Amino acid sequence: MAPFRFDTSYARLPEALFARVAPTPVRAPRLVIFNQGLAAELGLGAAEDWAALLAGNRLPEGATPLAQAYAGHQFGHFTMLGDGRAVLLGEHVAPDGRRVDIQLKGAGRTPFSRMGDGRAALGPMLREYLVSEAMHALGVSTTRSLAVVATGEPVVREEVLPGAVLTRVAASHIRVGTFQFAAAKRDREALAALLAHTIARHAPEAAEAERPALALLEATSRKQAALVARWMGVGFIHGVMNTDNMTLSGETIDYGPCAFMDAFEPMTVFSSIDRQGRYAYANQPVIAHWNLVRLAEALLPLIDPDETAAIDMANAAVQRFPALFEAEWLAQFRAKLGLATAEEGDRALVEMLLSVMRDTGCDMTGGFRALAEGAAWPVDAADQAAFAGFEAAWAARLAREGTALPDARARMLAANPAIIPRNHRVEQALAAAGEGDMGPFERLLAAVTRPYAPRPEDAPFRSPPLPHERVLATFCGT
Ligand code: AMP
Ligand code: MG
Repeated sequence: MAPFRFDTSYARLPEALFARVAPTPVRAPRLVIFNQGLAAELGLGAAEDWAALLAGNRLPEGATPLAQAYAGHQFGHFTMLGDGRAVLLGEHVAPDGRRVDIQLKGAGRTPFSRMGDGRAALGPMLREYLVSEAMHALGVSTTRSLAVVATGEPVVREEVLPGAVLTRVAASHIRVGTFQFAAAKRDREALAALLAHTIARHAPEAAEAERPALALLEATSRKQAALVARWMGVGFIHGVMNTDNMTLSGETIDYGPCAFMDAFEPMTVFSSIDRQGRYAYANQPVIAHWNLVRLAEALLPLIDPDETAAIDMANAAVQRFPALFEAEWLAQFRAKLGLATAEEGDRALVEMLLSVMRDTGCDMTGGFRALAEGAAWPVDAADQAAFAGFEAAWAARLAREGTALPDARARMLAANPAIIPRNHRVEQALAAAGEGDMGPFERLLAAVTRPYAPRPEDAPFRSPPLPHERVLATFCGT
């Protein structure tokens, strides 16, 4: 049996949207990690040599390899891009009918590579594997990781690093930037075909709408509002929310310099390339909205032939984003506080807690989990009292809705993770992996993929970094 059941609808789109290109074979492929659980979930068949297949040395049966064209606003500046180091092997159709892209990231040069070598280093690919699988376990919509294969070839960055290929599994790789590409090319046929393709994959109900393009924009707004609210709830900072890194599926994509916050601070930025703080934690909803406006612009010609009418309708749709986000954000934080109902003052209650967390330097994940567990706040003894006002308001709020504390806590344990992939632990695991020791990575992966049910041995992964362990900047490592 072939490992994948490919039916690649993207390869049937107008050729302007991609380039047919095969992965470039590597010298000595070696499987570093393989996701058995995901393989089972996707109903993958057995393969004689996963390393060769997932390094791109041998094409799996039925593959139609291609690199996708896209554009994007990177830190606000528009550029034509495309898969410069990724090759889509095909769309696998799982036994349950679910369709997923199987993409090799780091698979060699493509027509979109520009100055790049088309390759990826082991550290960043293991990082994407770990963080994406942690996000999935946290219940955040995300692309998944099937495997990392070491290539046996060096990649030259600031230093010489071991090369690797990540197998990324995604509902699709259609980005806001994919629509921007077709719009910038003024390729009406490609744009319309991309619209129909995206609707079929991600918003089938939009096909029945009076204006399918507008309906897709609305569906995407809802998905992104829900997604970014989830990020905010778990303290995730994407780091590079360029329009080419925002999907139409609503999945988190492209784990570059992303990171989870330790101490709660809304202006936290980790990415070494984000000097202005454009993609700081608190800015993420604003940027998601900005990106949706870019999607709306690209869709305009498909919304209505009368441009003014199209702009009015698109505007009305994107202007609803802040309210959609607010509702999702409140739902997130109500759940984190164990609330089952909605009250007018809930935003103020959440903000009261968050501002005390910020003032006391309280660890975000640890703070919410402590509240769920009925433990002391993870701050200095002298700062415990700073939470008294919040505690009283919270107790009164629970009493008003008639929720007993044990019931609230039971719900909160399922809404507040104990374990996130903390940067310092990730760095330690990647450093060991670079030395050939996968032990720390595997232990960390086991812990972050069961975030709501910590075991005693997971204790080291729960604590925030000591001052000397603190990671201040993360790097794309491209
Ligand atoms: P990213 O920062 O990974 O979202 O990548 C931004 C753009 O740069 C995409 O078009 C990538 O395909 C391209 N790119 C990143 N790294 C490389 C590389 N090593 N070789 C070629 N293209 C790359
Ligand atoms: Mg990207």
